[in-house]
Amino acid sequence: MTFRSKAFEIAQGRVAPSLTPPAEKITDLYGSNTFSDDVMKTLLSAEAYTKISNAIRSGSTIDREVADEVSAAMKSWAVSKGATHYTHWFQPLTGTTAEKHDSFFDLTMDGKAVEKFKGSALVQQEPDASSFPSGGLRATFEARGYTGWDPSSPAFLMDNGAGGKTLCIPSVFISYTGEALDYKAPLLKSLVMLDKAATSVCQFFNRDVDKVTPTLGIEQEYFLVDKALYYARPDLLMAGRTVFGHSPARGQQLDDHYFGSISPRVNAFMVDFEFEALKLGIPVRTRHNEVAPGQFECAPTFEEVNLAIDHNALLMDLMQKVGDKHNFQVLFHEKPFAGINGSGKHNNWSLSTDTGINLLAPTSKPKENLRFLTFLMNVVKAVHDHADLLRASISSAGNEHRLGANEAPPSIVSVFLGNELTNMLEELVNKGEITLEKGENFYYKLGITRIPNLQRDNTDRNRTSPFCFTGNKFEYRAVGSSQNSASPMIVLNTIVANQLLEFKREMDERLAAGEEKKVATVEILKRYFTESKNILFEGNGYSEEWLEEAKRRGLSNIRETYDALHAYITEPTITVFERMGVLTSRELHARYEIELENYVKKLQIESRVIGDLALNHIVSTVVKYQFKLAQTARSLTDLEMLEEAAPIKEIIKDISTHIVIIKKLVHEMTEQRKTANNIEDLFERAKMYGSEVKGFFEEIRYHVDKLELLIDDEDWPLAKYREMLFLE
Ligand code: ADP
Ligand code: MG
Repeated sequence: MTFRSKAFEIAQGRVAPSLTPPAEKITDLYGSNTFSDDVMKTLLSAEAYTKISNAIRSGSTIDREVADEVSAAMKSWAVSKGATHYTHWFQPLTGTTAEKHDSFFDLTMDGKAVEKFKGSALVQQEPDASSFPSGGLRATFEARGYTGWDPSSPAFLMDNGAGGKTLCIPSVFISYTGEALDYKAPLLKSLVMLDKAATSVCQFFNRDVDKVTPTLGIEQEYFLVDKALYYARPDLLMAGRTVFGHSPARGQQLDDHYFGSISPRVNAFMVDFEFEALKLGIPVRTRHNEVAPGQFECAPTFEEVNLAIDHNALLMDLMQKVGDKHNFQVLFHEKPFAGINGSGKHNNWSLSTDTGINLLAPTSKPKENLRFLTFLMNVVKAVHDHADLLRASISSAGNEHRLGANEAPPSIVSVFLGNELTNMLEELVNKGEITLEKGENFYYKLGITRIPNLQRDNTDRNRTSPFCFTGNKFEYRAVGSSQNSASPMIVLNTIVANQLLEFKREMDERLAAGEEKKVATVEILKRYFTESKNILFEGNGYSEEWLEEAKRRGLSNIRETYDALHAYITEPTITVFERMGVLTSRELHARYEIELENYVKKLQIESRVIGDLALNHIVSTVVKYQFKLAQTARSLTDLEMLEEAAPIKEIIKDISTHIVIIKKLVHEMTEQRKTANNIEDLFERAKMYGSEVKGFFEEIRYHVDKLELLIDDEDWPLAKYREMLFLE
């Protein structure tokens, strides 16, 4: 029995576990493992509570006494719920989350055991985290990195499985010199800037708005594979994706998996992780099957951006932990299976005011719609001016397989607004100079009295656009399923903040020159529309024609990650990021380097896995099988059954042909890898990996997949697609 068939037998034998649903109602359960506002209200003095609430709302600093009081409250809350350890929980640029647990347990001078957690330990810690990527920001002589408490994201309790719990404190991670080494630090800065910029623009319309909060809802796609089969796929284990594997006879052609009924085993997993998520205050709401077999989606209700991102990172971690209990491996890779849809992370983003207005939602009031058009057009203009940067923010070795693969947005950044909205804007521009007769209704004359009932309820919205307006929010759909959403959100927040400030500057100038406010607004928006029109696209983003059309329009279509990343260090990017105070030139260069390095490492691992699997698993197995065939052919020949032996000889020959080519290709790929590894310049190395080394992947795969069809099913060493994908 092969390892593979044993694994398949185990996987097939599994049944859905019976779950005991928690006794509490969801509303009681929700947030029960978080150090929430309610908990703080109960445990803190009125003064401390007010101070911390202000700090959360406005980012004001927290003094020592308050920090001491909060840490004491946190400790007693956490210990009462069974926690033994605490950790600063942060998001380094590796793309995962990081934690280093310290025990509350301590000894006093006279040797007594106490539980200790001081305010200073809450506010700042110094993990010896020198092996996280820093892109040269931390020279080895000063390798210290600090983590600092982010009070705007509630601390939470993580179950370690074996009974113990850890108090996790969301934190930023910065270098000794104050440079950002993580995603959260620049994200928080970008959010502050966007609030400022959006509030100042909002005041042209609503004087009572004091704060604008960017909101985010992240739809997370993923695949599930049984653990046993996962272990029968060294490529999944090492690289997160299958580097070989012939498509099953039935793929997703029938579209029968999408929104289909969820199998009991999968359902049990979902119910289980959702309860855990709810306890952690993650508002998971939607679950469904996705297009591909074995693929699913989970979507929480939207929240403030920083929270939504922490919650997504936490959710991914949680899903894997719960997955382990259910003998599932959760695959977050963008393209775990060739020929089958990949996974994304749709980032639904909008802006909401402290007075309860969604700034990207049209209404039936003409005046409010001018505000709506202002925010809409400023986003479009920002995306137009920094399309390459947005593209860079979602670039990775994994997403490279997905973008433009006929089932995911192409590498071309375009914006979908819907026909009605586009026509309206078009018409607005064609109205020419705005002159108003006395008594004339401005909004009526411009045709913006009522914005047509947009895509809100329109099921026919464009799903092929990477960046689309969906009625009351924008949806950035090109984001990779495994990546930290902070990366695209830092960029989006920053470029929109910059654009809104630019709009405000122009408005102020026009108002100072005596222009009427409404007229000034419309004049500027008209220009923005004309200037950014070529990024608007309503058609099928997956089609060949769009590639042609985009080229004609002069839009970039940057396929390769190593090229796409360049936008991080161009002059316009550095200018905007420095002006907004989100990232310095040095920090941007560091990020650029880290991303290039990640890319090289991923391809290096994949290339090694391909080489090893091809030679140690495939060729070696195939040779044994060939020997069996040869014996059969010889026996037939001995019996003088030459005609019967002929087709067997043919198969032997076919197999040999593939083996010879595979061996040759693996050898050449290894040589190229060696050459690439010796290239000093990081960009050139990444390029060599992305063009030369990666060029072998598909070629080798082609021959291995052909062998999969030639070899006796019994002998094939790797779990097959149909086994991994169609498990009930
Ligand atoms: P879909 O049809 O794409 O599934 P939904 O209305 O279910 O659309 O929303 C998808 C995601 O968008 C959800 O996570 C939802 O919470 C989020 N979303 C809805 N409104 C907003 C908003 N104003 N800001 C940010 N995200 C939002
Ligand atoms: Mg969606």
